[in-house]
Amino acid sequence: MTVTKFIPYGRQSVNEDDIAAVVESLNSDYLTQGPKVHEFERQLADKVGADYALACNSATSALHLACLALGVSEGDSVWTSPNTFIASANCARYCGAEVDFVEIDQHSYNLCPEQLAKKLALAAREDKLPKVVIPVHFAGQPCDMAAIHQLSQQYGFAIIEDASHAIGAYYQDQPVGNCQYSDICVFSFHPVKIITSAEGGMAVTNDPELAQHMRTHGHQGTTKKPQELTQIPGDWYYEQQTLGYNYRMTELQAALGLSQLKRLDEFIARRHQQFDHYQQLLKGLPITLPKQKGDAKSSLHLYPILLPAQHATKRKGVFDALRQAGIGTQVHYIPVHSQPYYQALGFKLGDYPIAEDYYARTLSLPLFADLSYEEQVYTAQALSKALADNGVTL
Ligand SMILES: *Cc1c(COP(=O)(O)O)cnc(C)c1O
Repeated sequence: MTVTKFIPYGRQSVNEDDIAAVVESLNSDYLTQGPKVHEFERQLADKVGADYALACNSATSALHLACLALGVSEGDSVWTSPNTFIASANCARYCGAEVDFVEIDQHSYNLCPEQLAKKLALAAREDKLPKVVIPVHFAGQPCDMAAIHQLSQQYGFAIIEDASHAIGAYYQDQPVGNCQYSDICVFSFHPVKIITSAEGGMAVTNDPELAQHMRTHGHQGTTKKPQELTQIPGDWYYEQQTLGYNYRMTELQAALGLSQLKRLDEFIARRHQQFDHYQQLLKGLPITLPKQKGDAKSSLHLYPILLPAQHATKRKGVFDALRQAGIGTQVHYIPVHSQPYYQALGFKLGDYPIAEDYYARTLSLPLFADLSYEEQVYTAQALSKALADNGVTL
């Protein structure tokens, strides 16, 4: 079999309806701040079961607004997983807060609730409790939110779910995003994610004050709502009441996002089918396959495999061989605390051994809506050969 084109680890699926939606919005009166953004917010909130939604130009912006709304500032501490994209931690730094990390669970690769409990007990004694904890639903697999929520009640911190990977996922039969166990939940629509708006993100919440705070701060700190103004000299009037940002989403992005949202269920079903194919195609290889937890339905953003512990040094060889074969395997994630920026803040290699060991051995295989069965077979064959050529055995 010959598969000649490069197969990335993730990519968007854009169809004729998506294109027509964007063109229609280009021909409309509004390129930004029009009806599509509001419609996208309303439909996404409905889909995930949240009361309020704010569309942003990225999930990074949404995470920043979420931290601001929860009052994160200098002197505060925000905790997240080391196994995530840097944005989950950077949002706290934007607010001047300190970041700390909670070790991951070695089966789900998510922030481990037992480690969190231990770290909280210690922090309580030293009076260093976090203001906010940001669990990340890695690869689309929901974190153990009931446990994390219970700890938040006990220790009094707020929760932002970084659900950048997890739109369309379910936890205890409830959609991720209904904020049953969190204050705010954030989604990303970057093209490698489940649905896309090119760049874009959304923050959802059930709290009207948090929603209003995020909206104001994402719109230059301004408001036009009559009940919030100090005076109303005329219809032209708006007030800047605080310092905010321009984090708005455009109409073009919202039009694409809305059109993609219609395809969400189909995308998730497709990913589950592909997941099952991989589980079949790869069984018998000397690797650990990703697992799905019983109390949740993953959105399957990523398909991360692990080499055996004794073969961690061969990961680069396997990675290079797959790239040579035209397979855009990738590594998710370089532990955030190992980045030079965070090392300069005092974190050291060895601080989170499970996340570091996971990082040393992981590879993400291609997984996206338009990936064909033939490409999966090709990937499995190339992986099998790469493992054998590099001497990776059980
Ligand atoms: C992609 C991603 C982000 C950032 O999303 P953008 O929309 O690119 O800003 C944040 N957190 C995680 C876990 C991500 O994967």
